[in-house]
Amino acid sequence: MAANTNTQASVPRLQVRDIRKAFGQNVVLRGIDLSVSAGEVVALIGGNGAGKSTLMKIIMGIYSCDSGEILIDGAPARLGKPAAALAAGIYLVPQEPLLFPNMTVLENILMGFAGNEAELKKRVAQHMKELGVDLNLQRKANTLSIAEQQLVELLRGLMRDARILILDEPTSALTFGEVQALFRVMRDLKSKGISMIYITHRLNEVFEIATSVAIMRDGLITLEGPVESFTKEMLIQGLLPKDAQAQKQGEQAYEPVRYEALKPVLEVRSFSGYGFTDVSFDLYPGEILGIAGVVGAGRTELISTIFGRDKTLSGKVLLDGKDITGMSTKQILKEGINFVPEDRHAHGLFKIRSISSNTTSALLSGGEIGKVNMNRRRQREISKKYVDDFRTKIVSLEDLIGSLSGGNQQKVVIARSLSTKPKVVILDEPTRGIDAAARSDVYGIIRQLKEAGVAVLMVSSDIEEVVELADRAITVFQGRINGEFSRGEITQDVLTSASFGIAQERTV
Ligand code: ADP
Ligand code: MG
Repeated sequence: MAANTNTQASVPRLQVRDIRKAFGQNVVLRGIDLSVSAGEVVALIGGNGAGKSTLMKIIMGIYSCDSGEILIDGAPARLGKPAAALAAGIYLVPQEPLLFPNMTVLENILMGFAGNEAELKKRVAQHMKELGVDLNLQRKANTLSIAEQQLVELLRGLMRDARILILDEPTSALTFGEVQALFRVMRDLKSKGISMIYITHRLNEVFEIATSVAIMRDGLITLEGPVESFTKEMLIQGLLPKDAQAQKQGEQAYEPVRYEALKPVLEVRSFSGYGFTDVSFDLYPGEILGIAGVVGAGRTELISTIFGRDKTLSGKVLLDGKDITGMSTKQILKEGINFVPEDRHAHGLFKIRSISSNTTSALLSGGEIGKVNMNRRRQREISKKYVDDFRTKIVSLEDLIGSLSGGNQQKVVIARSLSTKPKVVILDEPTRGIDAAARSDVYGIIRQLKEAGVAVLMVSSDIEEVVELADRAITVFQGRINGEFSRGEITQDVLTSASFGIAQERTV
């Protein structure tokens, strides 16, 4: 390894100074200082979009920074490229696994390694044993679950013998047992003097594995120090946005839902699937039910299973009293549930089609009209109405949807779901990556859905969003519902605590 190893204890192994980074107009890092010494595990925590992954990619040389410097063993490093970071002994296990789908597990792990294959294989086997993982090395990467892919990424990282190992939310898809095995391995690395940066959403893990902790908010490190100097409550306070003085919001002009006069439109009963267990709740017409929780808590799995995309393991879902458990997505759409996915680029839109045909595409595939060839004029009529209603900023209905900003694309997607006159609309992270102005328009559309009597089920990692919109909220922690809050009870504090599993711990 290039860097010298006989450094004094007082010189951090890795130090980043005043790192700044913007993506276009979006200023993501506003001057970050962070250092890690030998044998230290720095837990980096912070809400979605705080800039954690961006910072790690800069350290790994995947992104360049606009300004700032990186020192290794006290000496300025010219990273800038992954190869240089690797040569300096840095390795990043990324948040999203990036495997070559058509290659085997072994080929993926050994990518970029030269040497005796039998020996390398032995080392892989040894690391698998330590991690308590039993993966067939000949499996193709495209047959692996997300958790398995993450384990392969981890194995890749361990094989690198890095001096500075960065783990970006490695545990969000792992089971409790796998996390414990990972911690055993991390403790062993720690005792060998390896430096680690560990990103997580789970505060318990901070106290279990970290030596120090740093909280990142809006591109700045707002709080840091040795882990002993913090309590969990202090970390939660540090995670909250500045102006969130536990105030209850938005009572003005918000018609309370009269639950006593209503029958639930959706009843979820002892429902289990991959990633969530024994979930029960009701959803009422004209209500916005927020589902809060941290990434990896099982929320996306829950709603996509309700929508028929993933397999139900047990339990029931009733829509207006009718059992729809296990129906296909197509049938469920017909029954009156609509789904606006988080990743509208992957699932939501036909980028190369016009705004008009995107707005009505849900109708074409089994909505109210159900015919393959919808009259172009009718398409335009419907689209025009929605564009006007929602103040979508467009030049022409025939423009390609890809030419719109993210916020306006999202309005088209939600408008499309409305056009089928659904009973229930499920929204997954409706405003992720959307600028503030479009966000308030999207909020307006969601309220319009509610006022039209549609039941809205909204997954959001943005707690402010849940506080602002929800009539009721449930929190999901490690695949189970651990809290339910009426509008009057919903505050940032309460939801944040429950999302991190605090409320649950207090009651047991
Ligand atoms: P975190 O890991 O803390 O959740 P990220 O670093 O992933 O946060 O994202 C921080 C911000 O940077 C977000 O607003 C995100 O949209 C933006 N961002 C991240 N990567 C890119 C990219 N490649 N291009 C444009 N914007 C990006
Ligand atoms: Mg991230």
